[in-house]
Amino acid sequence: MDYEVVIGLEVHAQLSTQSKIFCGCSTKFGAPPNTQTCPVCLGMPGVLPVLNRRAVDFAIKTALACHGEVAPRCRFARKNYFYPDMPKNYQISQYDEPLVVGGYVEIPTPEGLKRIGLVRIHLEEDVGKSIHGENLDDPRASYVDFNRSGVPLMEIVSQPELSSPDEAKLYLQKLRTILQYLDVCDGNMEEGSLRCDANVSLRPQGSQQFGTKVEIKNMNSFRNVQRALEYEVKRQAKTLEEGEKLVQETRLWDANRGVTRSMRSKEFAHDYRYFPEPDLVPLATVREWIEGIRRTLPELPDARMQRFITEYGIPEYDASVLTSSKALADYYEACIKHYPKPKVVSNWIMVELLRALNRDGIEVEQSRVTPEHLAELFKLVDDGTISSTMAKTVFDAMYETGKPASEIVKEKELRQISDESALLAAVERVLADNPKEVDDFRAGREKLLGFFMGQVMKATQGKANPQAVNKLLRERLTAKES
Ligand SMILES: [Zn+2]
Repeated sequence: MDYEVVIGLEVHAQLSTQSKIFCGCSTKFGAPPNTQTCPVCLGMPGVLPVLNRRAVDFAIKTALACHGEVAPRCRFARKNYFYPDMPKNYQISQYDEPLVVGGYVEIPTPEGLKRIGLVRIHLEEDVGKSIHGENLDDPRASYVDFNRSGVPLMEIVSQPELSSPDEAKLYLQKLRTILQYLDVCDGNMEEGSLRCDANVSLRPQGSQQFGTKVEIKNMNSFRNVQRALEYEVKRQAKTLEEGEKLVQETRLWDANRGVTRSMRSKEFAHDYRYFPEPDLVPLATVREWIEGIRRTLPELPDARMQRFITEYGIPEYDASVLTSSKALADYYEACIKHYPKPKVVSNWIMVELLRALNRDGIEVEQSRVTPEHLAELFKLVDDGTISSTMAKTVFDAMYETGKPASEIVKEKELRQISDESALLAAVERVLADNPKEVDDFRAGREKLLGFFMGQVMKATQGKANPQAVNKLLRERLTAKES
């Protein structure tokens, strides 16, 4: 039987507001445990929440960027459950009257752009963080840190319209890019500011009915999202092929073992006994407010990609890679300012810079090669000071040390030799040392030119100007024949 994969994602994005959603505590990541708390976010009895306007601004901004509809009126609701990291025993969230309904995100697929619909975007508070089995004072104890309690969260729920783990990853990447362009979430999956749960089910090819869905949690990187979903799709297909029934449940992704395992049977909405939050009045979003936010929308990834294609004349592929993160796109444009040859810059960033960054698992913001330094490197190639092969060596040193190109060229004495009289001796020696190859070349084996080039480069420790050597070799090899 051929199955069709049906995936929907629920993404939680921590909003990068200065303060929490219902109190004035700081949201800064990494502070010592329980130092950013107050009676409100500790859930003391009798305290009253006050909504952070900036958090609503950010959610509206996201809605506008994703073509969603901001509801004229929405309401907060209590989601009741017990967990040690949530002392109120309820989380303030939104239920039947969310802030945003509908919208979509477009992802690039081999068949062209695919539109993934959104069900809703709503606001809620984050809960504290339980820490188990880590080597703190007592390794057997569990700890809880309430710094995260009350950090504003935006939940973005997609329609079940993703048809493969690959598409799920693309969707999540695109969503992260949009949030980063909007500057509403830093998108850091390792620090948990962007988290993702997935609903996965299979159904016979062509069927209209959905199969039993399983929720997957605990995927904290793009790679893990893809791996977890790939594993789960295989597991479900195998279960169905063996004629067994799937259970509606929540499963945890175990990245070390590369499997999902059952955590609990799936809860239903009625298990949470949602009811309207009595401490907060309904929220009205008047049109001037929304229009005011619309005017602050920056250039979004899709628009920037199109502009790169038309303004810089680079291929669509380059433009899509370069605009995949705001920081990378900014970096590219900064380079162009100092060195206005868009395709040269794009090749270097995509090949050399991204290779190094990917190898070290860091982002362009952390690169020690500044756009100014990169531009200087290109100019040194253009004016013949170094060859393009040397430029790669210089780049590696720039990347390691953060020093400017000219300084490295000086330190490593990498200046290329373009002076013909200086090169001639090396050329003559190579030809004298390889009489057989010289004869073969003259008999028509033109490919040997590469061999001679290599020998001259070796003799000059790679410092010879390739064009000059090429010219000299051709002159010498043809001159004696006549
Ligand atoms: Zn607080």
